[in-house]
Amino acid sequence: MSNTDFVLAVEDLTVSFDGFKAIDALTLYVDKNELRVIIGPNGAGKTTLLDLICGKTRASAGSIKFKNAEMSRLPEYQIVRSGIGRKFQTPSIYENLSVFQNLEVSFPRGRGVFGALAFKRDAEVRDAVQSVAAEIGLADQLALEAGLLSHGQKQWLEIGMLLMQDPELLMLDEPIAGMSVRERELTAELLKRICKGRSMIVIEHDMDFVKQIAHKVTVMHQGKILAEGSMEQVQADPKVIDVYLGH
Ligand code: ADP
Ligand code: MG
Repeated sequence: MSNTDFVLAVEDLTVSFDGFKAIDALTLYVDKNELRVIIGPNGAGKTTLLDLICGKTRASAGSIKFKNAEMSRLPEYQIVRSGIGRKFQTPSIYENLSVFQNLEVSFPRGRGVFGALAFKRDAEVRDAVQSVAAEIGLADQLALEAGLLSHGQKQWLEIGMLLMQDPELLMLDEPIAGMSVRERELTAELLKRICKGRSMIVIEHDMDFVKQIAHKVTVMHQGKILAEGSMEQVQADPKVIDVYLGH
């Protein structure tokens, strides 16, 4: 297909696991600066879609273009370097390192200056850590061992580790699972803040949360798109009520 203005263009994407199509000829476009939420019943293929986009799983057919460049045959690290960051369901932080160190190790290698000017790089890394820590609400916890953070704070730290790479597309799989009500509110604010200047795909079940953050909602079912539109549109869609919201 020809070039598009979309940040992400997924077209006719299919993946089969032993003949079972977990993603079935799926087409999805995400705009620049858009926060898209994907909802749908368990087993719909939401996580598998993210696995395909970040290169963890290989597509059987179809294409995944990020800023018009084909991603579907690149290794995972090159997809990350292209500007796609992905957070998994369970946080993978270094529990025995400090918050500062967790952010520091996430700073992209090979960026900045080296050798005699290494001190400049150190300053650059410190600045990046400080600004990300402020963004994720952990500026006062930089010296704390990450293992001592609350469950919610650990999730934010992992989002911060992704922000250190300054991805143009950030994908989060069920970021508020297990969070308290207050942490959910803070996360909604956090996501609205960090989607400025980048695109995001968020998978989530909590409809109040989805309502707060989504620009547009995609409903998946059996590896396909069942409905797509504003929150109001998908909530009023009889097909969506039938397979998902009615339960
Ligand atoms: P969701 O995230 O929407 O709950 P998933 O993407 O995790 O759904 O799973 C979609 C379907 O694909 C499920 O039936 C799941 O069992 C299957 N599936 C996912 N990954 C694999 C895999 N690596 N091998 C075989 N089946 C898989
Ligand atoms: Mg899932």
